[in-house]
Amino acid sequence: MNFDFSEEQQLLRKTVRQFVDAEIMPHIAKWDAEGGFDSTIWKRLASLGLMGVCIPEKYGGAGMDYNSLAIVCEELERGDTAFRTAVSVHTGLNSMTLLQWGTEAQKQKYLIPQARGEKIGAFGLTEPGAGSDVAAIDSYAKREGDVYILNGQKTWISLCDVADHFIVFAYTDKSKKHHGITAFIVERTMPGFSSKAIKGKYGIRAGNTGELFFDDVKIPVENRLGEEGEGFKIAMSALDNGRFTVAAGAVGLIQACLEASVKYCKERKTFGKAIGDHQLVGQMLAKMEAGYHMSRLLVYRVGELKNKGVRNTRETSLAKWQACDFANKAADDAVQIHGAYGYSDEYPVARYLRNSKAPVIYEGTREIHTIMQADYVLGKRQDKPLSKMLPKWPFE
Ligand SMILES: Cc1cc2nc3c(=O)[nH]c(=O)nc-3n(C[C@H](O)[C@H](O)[C@H](O)COP(=O)(O)OP(=O)(O)OC[C@H]3O[C@@H](n4cnc5c(N)ncnc54)[C@H](O)[C@@H]3O)c2cc1C
Repeated sequence: MNFDFSEEQQLLRKTVRQFVDAEIMPHIAKWDAEGGFDSTIWKRLASLGLMGVCIPEKYGGAGMDYNSLAIVCEELERGDTAFRTAVSVHTGLNSMTLLQWGTEAQKQKYLIPQARGEKIGAFGLTEPGAGSDVAAIDSYAKREGDVYILNGQKTWISLCDVADHFIVFAYTDKSKKHHGITAFIVERTMPGFSSKAIKGKYGIRAGNTGELFFDDVKIPVENRLGEEGEGFKIAMSALDNGRFTVAAGAVGLIQACLEASVKYCKERKTFGKAIGDHQLVGQMLAKMEAGYHMSRLLVYRVGELKNKGVRNTRETSLAKWQACDFANKAADDAVQIHGAYGYSDEYPVARYLRNSKAPVIYEGTREIHTIMQADYVLGKRQDKPLSKMLPKWPFE
């Protein structure tokens, strides 16, 4: 086992941290209040190679390992969950899925511009009647010659109004239950496509989330990702990558909670001493510290498995579940430590608490991951290699 980060990884962390401190921290309170961020941020993320950090160079990426993606996510979420969510969706759920399942032509057409940050990718699985229960989706794609005609609706889709390309899941044969779901690459410019943001979100307010509508959208057969009926399997393998980025981001959120709380603990005095010197307050800091290190170990172990090309659904689910729960608790305690001041926008901790909730819901709720882990230990579930695995690192 090697717990050291390489020099390249350390440099990457420093670069992202500097970017976050200079370009995100000074503006995030305003962006969160206004419900959106400066769109030039995308170009700056791309210029640093952060839009395709673990995509091979031959497909427009930086060619770094999978733990480098975790570093990017950890550092971005230290700034705000909206930016990590954007990378989770663009790289974790979309680009890595194209890398794993796409044809060479699809990689040339869609992956390269996404990895370079020239185009943005997103992921449309959830529907008004189907979240945890993926097989309950209603979207339907009917084949007619060389095209599929897609009809349906998606909801709670990150980057709904921003992304250029979406990986979308729809039934091609409802009689086959989840074996009848197929994945498609849908372009925003395809006639019949439209999107609409959801207003009034509890957290991740700087991020864009909303609905997608497909009204007789004609999708060329060459935009089918994988075979007919492989969509469910592709969606689940995409989540192995998305959940990894969510877990890594949660580590960054705990770090942000710790930074704000330690600072406040030294400044604020009650009963003649700094509040950090009260044991019950120190206990909250100690729990944050424990959650931070436990989550980090779980996350970077998953990255190592990905580097080795080993299936990691079980380990990823555990890391995502635990890191998001620790982050949610750390943010709750960070508000508690700040007392009434934590309950306002004077300090960032209220935003951390609001932001920490969605990751406990998306990419598998806390309950779904609990069930998965119970099923693994009971022997009801086991991971076998997929027909197409994410390429090992170093890339060939
Ligand atoms: C900010 C945000 C961004 C998102 N981005 C995306 C995106 O980019 N793409 C996308 O496709 N989706 C996205 N989602 C949707 C997200 O993945 C779903 O919300 C999630 O899968 C849960 O589905 P649901 O909300 O329909 O809840 P439901 O599935 O209806 O669950 C409701 C409650 O019931 C519990 N529950 C359900 N089934 C069981 C069970 N069998 N046993 C025990 N408890 C159960 C759940 O844990 C939960 O507490 C996003 C959501 C949010 C909040």
